Amino acid sequence: MIRRDFLGLVGATLVGSLAQADELKHPDIWLKDDQKAVFESVIKKLDMVERTVGYAKFNLISFDETLKIAKNYPKIGAFTPAEIAYIEEVFYTDPAIYGFYGKRTIENLSDAINEKEVIKIDGTGHYVYRGHSQELLVRIMKDVGKTIILTSGIRSSMKQLSLHLDKIKSENGNITVASRSLVPPAYSYHSVGDFDVGKKGWGHQNFTANFARTEEFWNLQKLSYVSMRYTIGNGDGVRFEPWHVKIV
Ligand SMILES: [Zn+2]
Repeated sequence: MIRRDFLGLVGATLVGSLAQADELKHPDIWLKDDQKAVFESVIKKLDMVERTVGYAKFNLISFDETLKIAKNYPKIGAFTPAEIAYIEEVFYTDPAIYGFYGKRTIENLSDAINEKEVIKIDGTGHYVYRGHSQELLVRIMKDVGKTIILTSGIRSSMKQLSLHLDKIKSENGNITVASRSLVPPAYSYHSVGDFDVGKKGWGHQNFTANFARTEEFWNLQKLSYVSMRYTIGNGDGVRFEPWHVKIV
């Protein structure tokens, strides 16, 4: 065995046992039976609010606006005290119990995005912050070429909540597993400037490890000014995300 292989093996074993230790410390947490009805109704109302305001605008929507729209559209109907309490619980729970160790990025549920500070990127349905994020995106698009696109930009707490709950649903109620790929609503760096890029025309594939095999990813890697937020084995407990560009 050559030395490099040996070290690789030790490294893999170490990473494996650390992951195992983490699983023992944090047994998977599942949605409770008595939460299921309110969980489903919150998902449904958020979807209806999204359909009402549109995909792009929903990326920026605040908690207060969401409540207002639901209340003003009889087809949706006002969020009930139980639904609001559930949203608050999801927002304020410390996700370390799910094995997620990232930093909180939004302090209060009512914090809103200042729309003067953002710019919509043509043809994407997504926004980035003016200044640093916008400059970085423009530079990446110029250096990598026309086949790289913005696939997700700024996400408000409500957009992230909607994605997070949808993920819990698709993981059959396993909050721990869901939190590794769709982080809880107060903890997304998308709320403070990070964005995702992908290969044009690749759809959902852009959010899989396959993106790391594209020419776009390799060209991205060559750019000294670009760094990725969630590398392999990152300390936040998030899966490897080769598409997620780190801002700060
Ligand atoms: Zn991302």
